[in-house]
Amino acid sequence: MRSFRIGRLFGIPIELDLTFLLILPLFAYLIGTTLGEYASLINEVLAPANLVEVSALTGDSTVALVVGLLAAVGLFVGVIIHELGHSLVAMRYGFPISSIKLWLFGGVAQLSEMPEDWKQEFNIAVAGPIVSVLLGVVSYVAFTAVQPGGTAIAAVRFLLAYLAVVNVALAIFNMLPGFPMDGGRVLRALLARNRPYAQATQIAAEVGKLFAIGLGLFGLFGGGGLFLVAIAFFIYIGASSEAQRTVMAAAFDGVTVRDIMTPDDDLKTVTPDTSVADLLGRMFTERHTGYPVVENGRPVGVVTLSDAQSVKEVERDAYQVEEVMSRDIESVDPETGAMDALEQMQAAGVGRLLVMEDDELVGLLSRTDLMTALDIIKQGGAVSRSTDSPRPALGRTN
Ligand SMILES: [Zn+2]
Repeated sequence: MRSFRIGRLFGIPIELDLTFLLILPLFAYLIGTTLGEYASLINEVLAPANLVEVSALTGDSTVALVVGLLAAVGLFVGVIIHELGHSLVAMRYGFPISSIKLWLFGGVAQLSEMPEDWKQEFNIAVAGPIVSVLLGVVSYVAFTAVQPGGTAIAAVRFLLAYLAVVNVALAIFNMLPGFPMDGGRVLRALLARNRPYAQATQIAAEVGKLFAIGLGLFGLFGGGGLFLVAIAFFIYIGASSEAQRTVMAAAFDGVTVRDIMTPDDDLKTVTPDTSVADLLGRMFTERHTGYPVVENGRPVGVVTLSDAQSVKEVERDAYQVEEVMSRDIESVDPETGAMDALEQMQAAGVGRLLVMEDDELVGLLSRTDLMTALDIIKQGGAVSRSTDSPRPALGRTN
């Protein structure tokens, strides 16, 4: 188990990832040992209001670490409430939330479906930062209401001021237009008003990448520091990988394997006793790099170009396909969603899936078939879509 449940809020399971348990004590330590610097930073942001006084806290290292731990826990409670903001709006639109999970990079609310309507996505995305700003304001009001006093009061005042600054910072950070951020989703929602969803996602991802590059350069040369570079890197990776997945999931929404596979009639197959030399000849003329191997109408394996090339050139007449083919058949049902098929291919590390229905080979789905279909859909065209298939996408929101 990489994560475990700590409770439920509004019926949503709250889960802690193992990586979060590593980061929490680290945060507590980092805050606790640098209370003075935090205080001067906070005082700079909140000035000229009454200032945080930390000399009472930094004198005793135990007190400092306890305050650090409380601040770290407060930060992550703020992250959970931020995620609840997304979740409650999503639930109001009828999207069930399977869990809110805290991990290394903060919180993630798992939507079991993606909203299609740009207004819904917009509202779900902005709800988190709005909640964070409100939390910051409430913390600030509470901070100004508590008058300076002894050590305990100083600790409370530091924590409230810290939460005021950090929650607003969280909102600002999340509104960055990079894709894994809420700002990326807001941007996509706005773009999707007058564009296909997949195209809007792609543009939002490109903007996110450009933004990440700019942020990284600023971090390196503009004095922003390594922390900014790390954030930029995180945004870039997120924009590339998650957005790519979102683009595909959105594009393949409602598309099944049957819609895009090479059907039985057009299917090129070989028999187990085909020589490797003949196989390579066919690969060359037919421009296929993989064939199902069929014997008496039944698939018995798959043979690829690299299988054939494993035989030395002089021996290719002597070897037969059955000696080099792979007998592990990765098969898929024709009604499977295209996105699920792609993920199955990636998980199995193969370039093609045999499409089987009632133990019969009805087609072949190659990575090329998937990518060609994706290109067509992205250009605004449509492959023949099956109706009534469930949406395969699993939406996430940070
Ligand atoms: Zn968020």
